[in-house]
Amino acid sequence: MHEGLLLVVGSVGLGCIFGSFLNALSFRFNTGRGMGGRSRCMHCGHTLAAVDLVPVLSYVFLRGRCRYCEGHVSPQYPLVELLAGLLSLGIFLQFSSVMGFFDGAAFLYQPFLWFQCAYFLLIWLTILFIVVYDLRHQIIPWSASLLLAALTFGALFLSSLQNLPSFSVVVPSLWPLLAGPLLASPLFLISLVSGGRWMGWGDSIFELSLGWLLGLTAGLTALMLSFWIGAAVGIALMLSAQRPLSFVVGRFTMNSEIPFAPFLALGAVLAYFFHVNLFSTLPSLF
Ligand SMILES: [Zn+2]
Repeated sequence: MHEGLLLVVGSVGLGCIFGSFLNALSFRFNTGRGMGGRSRCMHCGHTLAAVDLVPVLSYVFLRGRCRYCEGHVSPQYPLVELLAGLLSLGIFLQFSSVMGFFDGAAFLYQPFLWFQCAYFLLIWLTILFIVVYDLRHQIIPWSASLLLAALTFGALFLSSLQNLPSFSVVVPSLWPLLAGPLLASPLFLISLVSGGRWMGWGDSIFELSLGWLLGLTAGLTALMLSFWIGAAVGIALMLSAQRPLSFVVGRFTMNSEIPFAPFLALGAVLAYFFHVNLFSTLPSLF
C-alpha cells in the first residue's frame, strides 16, 4: 500500500483510539469515579471485553446496544471517537501538505513535523474534551482550560505549518501574542458584567486559547462565526421549545444556559481546518 494512504488510515485509527479515551475521561473526570478499572456497561454493569470497545466499529456492529443486556449505548461514544479520528486526519493532512500532499515517504523522516503533529493533535483533543465536557456537565474544568491555554501559548513558539528541516523555536511576533487577550476580552467583559451568568469564565479562557491558536484575523473570523451560529441555534431552540412536538431540545428555554464552548470550537474548526477567513485582505502583519 502507498505510504501516504497507510498514514491516512493510521492517523484516523489513532485519533479514534484517543477519542475513546476522551469519552471515558468525559464520563469520569471530576465525577468522583476514578480513571482506573475496566470499562463497564452503564446499564447492567457487565465488564466490557476488548471486542466491545473497538472505536466506532463496535457501536456500528452491535447497533448501538450492549452485547449483554441490550441496553442502549450513548451515541456520544462513536461520535466523539469519529470526531477525534477526523481531527487527527485533519492535522496530519495540514502538516503533510507542507511536504507535498500524500508524500508519505518524505513525511516519515521529518521528526520535527511529527512533533508538531503530536503537539497540535494534543491541542485539538483538549478542545474536543472541553466541548464534550461542557455539553455533558455545562461547565469547563479549570484544569482543561489552563492546559489548553498553556499548550496554545507554547504553540506560538513553534513555527507552525512552516517547512523547517529541524527543531527550531521562534520568537512570536506581537500580533499573534496579543490575539488571545484581544479576542477573549469581549467574552471576559460579558462574564464580568453578568457575574458569569451570560457567559461562563471558562468560555473566556477557552477563547484566549483559541486566539493564540488561530491568530488575530482567523481568530476574529472564528469568534464571529461562533456568535452567528450560536445565535441561529439559540433562536431555533427557543422556537422549538414553544412547540409541543419538540423532543430533544424541549428542555431549552430563555433561561436555560446553552453551552457556548461548542460554538467557539466550531468556529475555530472552520478557521483552522477549512481556512475560512473573513479578513484575509488585511495586511499579513496580523
Ligand atoms: Zn449492558
